[in-house]
Amino acid sequence: MKSEILNDNPLAGVLRDLSSINEIRNHEIYCPIAKVRGLMSPLHASDDMKLKTMIVSIDLYDQELSALLYNHCRFPELESQNITVSWKDFLEGMSYLDRQVMLWGLFAATYKTLDPQTISCPYCSNEITDTIHANDLLQDDSLVQWEHSDPFTEYTFPIEYVIESETSAIDKVVFHTQLSNISRHIELLGIIPSEKLRQNYEKSNSLFSSTEELTSVTTKFEIVYKDPEKESFVTDNLRQIHMLIQTQVTLDVSEDVLEKFDDHFNKYVPRFYKKYECSTCKRDFTYNVNLELSFFRRFLRGRYNM
Ligand SMILES: [Zn+2]
Repeated sequence: MKSEILNDNPLAGVLRDLSSINEIRNHEIYCPIAKVRGLMSPLHASDDMKLKTMIVSIDLYDQELSALLYNHCRFPELESQNITVSWKDFLEGMSYLDRQVMLWGLFAATYKTLDPQTISCPYCSNEITDTIHANDLLQDDSLVQWEHSDPFTEYTFPIEYVIESETSAIDKVVFHTQLSNISRHIELLGIIPSEKLRQNYEKSNSLFSSTEELTSVTTKFEIVYKDPEKESFVTDNLRQIHMLIQTQVTLDVSEDVLEKFDDHFNKYVPRFYKKYECSTCKRDFTYNVNLELSFFRRFLRGRYNM
């Protein structure tokens, strides 16, 4: 066997060999909304502290997780065209839904499997224990590709709420909705007090209440007056939109608008699930996985042997 002479720093050679191992562990992903392929590399020991920080400080969580995903992702197709994806490009050009796919890729590259789970058959309550492989969660219909010719950042779906009151000077309110990019999500989290985020999370396992959910998808808020002479009020300022929705939009209207938004955009939400056939009643069912929760659960178990 011919021994290799390292004429430069011996550590450089070792690092090269190690990075080729990391290459092998890279996991390919497809971001269906931004329509770009990516390669996710596994978490390193040095990421441990970042993940710990995310868990304890809820207001930094979204930004830190996005930074982690950005640092572990490469876009080979863009690289081959000499296109570099900057942090800013990433925040603005990737949809929040693409981020879920990246998290799946990071999970698959790092851990491969989820924690062993006890899964109940919804028909007969028979219990199955399974260690789910991350790859098993990606089904044929898990990802739906963005179908409009305009990129998601330029595609707006207006939802109108007509005011049915003769005394009101306002004719209607128009919520111009879009799929949110990563940047908007982070910006919105930045204006919500951390105590509120914590309360939302404790109540509903989600950082956003319906007010914030609606704010995150409304990129323009418009008030149209009955008087045709009077110009519409329009704002695209996130703080103003948040304040208006929080103080002026009643819960039923907010729910109604969100429902219309979901009808239009929900098909794009990535669905990570596994199919089972129950060994007792022989019926088929699916088991849905919350990837973000599973990811942190797996991380905590690895670190603290929980
Ligand atoms: Zn069953």
